[in-house]
Amino acid sequence: MKHIDAHIHIERGEYTLDWINEFVVQAVNQGMNEIWLLEHCYRFREFVPMYDSVCAYSNYIAAWFHRKAGVLSLSDYMKLVEEVRNTKYPIDIKFGLEICYFNRFESLVHNRTKDLELDFLVGSTHFIDDFAFDHKPEHWNGINVNNAFKRYYEISTELAKSGLFNGIAHPDSIKLFGHLPSFSLLPYYDELAEELAKNNMYAEMNSGCYRRCGCEIGMDDDMIKAMKAHGVEIITASDAHRPEDVGADIIMMEKMLGKSP
Ligand SMILES: [Zn+2]
Ligand SMILES: [Zn+2]
Repeated sequence: MKHIDAHIHIERGEYTLDWINEFVVQAVNQGMNEIWLLEHCYRFREFVPMYDSVCAYSNYIAAWFHRKAGVLSLSDYMKLVEEVRNTKYPIDIKFGLEICYFNRFESLVHNRTKDLELDFLVGSTHFIDDFAFDHKPEHWNGINVNNAFKRYYEISTELAKSGLFNGIAHPDSIKLFGHLPSFSLLPYYDELAEELAKNNMYAEMNSGCYRRCGCEIGMDDDMIKAMKAHGVEIITASDAHRPEDVGADIIMMEKMLGKSP
């Protein structure tokens, strides 16, 4: 079978073939056959307008955003993509974008991405309305956990319905700091899986939160069951932010999914 790591950030280095090669070398060492390289959309000036309200909501997020965002343009990225495509590698390499989903910016995302010759777009729920839930545990102080979970899954289902993306990243990352709602999530999982299937989207089995916070690895069993019941393709992903993490936990997650012997 093919071993895939479908979510690898290249943001910590310059756009050079040497930098890309570091990811390839680690992928080969980890037995991967295919890697999907990507950038957060906010790295590019073209997507900066989407973040006005989340920066207004939190000084912490405003400071984080101004450190990280809008440092490149999409044409810089596409130049690198072309260079890599013209080079021979021992494994397959795809290029894409990880896009923060905001309902009101669907048409901005459509306009900015429709002519890009990328291999995939993966949508992420990183914000519950204006709340950036995945930065620090203390940001949850005073947050209504039940309401946050409900909105997270409603937004993720809208993401799936938008028709903008090939897949959804880390579809239950809201659990990363150990919060749990008092109600069953099964109906939300079922609705999300149904919309992913309708829109021909994959779901990631992503180990990023596990490495960062020690939470359960990948999707929980109930979500895996819901995805399988609706025929949603599940693709393994490390969410690596540096070459050393490429391929991390992929084989273990394949076993959890019943893919590897
Ligand atoms: Zn993400
Ligand atoms: Zn990511």
